[in-house]
Amino acid sequence: MNNKLTPGGRRYLSFIKELPCGVCGAAGPSDAHHIEQGLQYVCIPLCKDCHQGGHNGIHGRKSIWNVLKKTEISVLNDTVKTVFELN
Ligand SMILES: [Zn+2]
Ligand SMILES: [Zn+2]
Repeated sequence: MNNKLTPGGRRYLSFIKELPCGVCGAAGPSDAHHIEQGLQYVCIPLCKDCHQGGHNGIHGRKSIWNVLKKTEISVLNDTVKTVFELN
């Protein structure tokens, strides 16, 4: 997938990875989680636990997601909001 990244996509990805976790707010660097494979601008910053954690992770049982009432789309919304409010 990385080999399909355009220069702009790569810049966007490194920007996303600098952000705090979109679910729990843990300080960056974060993982970039792609909501849909191959859509390079549809990604959100997640800490290791909210990303890959077996209990809390989006790829696991999503406990913290449910407790905090977050979805991939709500986190994407917050991420885009962050991008525009920084500038
Ligand atoms: Zn987190
Ligand atoms: Zn992921």
